[in-house]
Amino acid sequence: MYFNHVIEAVGRTPLVKLNSVSAGIKGTILAKVEYFNPGNSVKDRMAIRMIEDAEKAGLIKPGGTIIEGTSGNTGMGLALAAIAKGYKTIFVMSDKQSKEKQDILRAVGAQVVVCPVDVAPEDPRSYYSVAKRLNQETPNSFYPNQYDNLSNAAAHYDTTGPEIWQQTEGKITHWAAGVGTGGTICGVSKYLKEQNPNIFTLGLDTYGSVFKKYKETGIFDQNEIYPYKTEGIGEDILPKNVDFDVIDLFLKVTDKDAAIMTRRLAKEEGLFVGWSCGSAVHGALEYAREHLKEEDTMVIVLPDHGTRYLGKIYNDDWMHAQGWL
Ligand code: PMP
Repeated sequence: MYFNHVIEAVGRTPLVKLNSVSAGIKGTILAKVEYFNPGNSVKDRMAIRMIEDAEKAGLIKPGGTIIEGTSGNTGMGLALAAIAKGYKTIFVMSDKQSKEKQDILRAVGAQVVVCPVDVAPEDPRSYYSVAKRLNQETPNSFYPNQYDNLSNAAAHYDTTGPEIWQQTEGKITHWAAGVGTGGTICGVSKYLKEQNPNIFTLGLDTYGSVFKKYKETGIFDQNEIYPYKTEGIGEDILPKNVDFDVIDLFLKVTDKDAAIMTRRLAKEEGLFVGWSCGSAVHGALEYAREHLKEEDTMVIVLPDHGTRYLGKIYNDDWMHAQGWL
């Protein structure tokens, strides 16, 4: 038995019980470990779906170029899809993302353009603006726009959600995920709530991001926006993939708490995962400690792999320099 291309190996990732970091908390805490995808992240699912939906809609033609603003993981998924389907790729990322992420994308044949992180999204130097401009300038190019492209959440509605429902045999009571584009949390939440409207969805946000305040007040507050270090979650925009109606509560997690929990996941659970995994688990356990009952089952998504953070949170010197060790 074999796959015709590695992208056919996307999805069907395992659920793994957390044992140590969740000690003393009632209920069953399960992690959906997305680094088992071939691109080592949850974003493989939506990357392939955005390309296949674009092909069906005639938005990308043979020999075309895929151009996207990405923190790395979406780029990896798009690169794998592009290799399978014969497209070129150009990725635009901010200089805050780890060097490893840039190198990985170049390794799979992409051209990488790096932009400053400390400029507003509408600034022509921002990675949002540069991606849009390159799309306009490059003939036969396609700009998936993972933030507003609803194929993103649809991929999780069609795959991640049903997998979790089946793997827990419908016993899931709580679903928790970090929120970046919102595709993962909202696609899964919509599916799960259709199976059982009582399932509670918890979104994990960063300090420096607009989501929590917006959910609670309906106000897009510029004062909520300031630099932070965690990669992949929190935004200074409201992506169309975030459907606030299917997220019941947001909690914010600090960069430090996230980093420390990520290192614990590696050491205590054997889950060598990425930084936003620590955000999701730290925040979800904070909620679970107070609210979960013995019969409850919480599923937390772990979006990516630890290799992408070896130079940062898994590096003791770097952790000391932050004052976090
Ligand atoms: N964690 C990491 C490492 C990511 O790359 C992303 C994608 N931005 C997320 C979490 C958040 O996933 P989503 O975009 O589906 O909200």
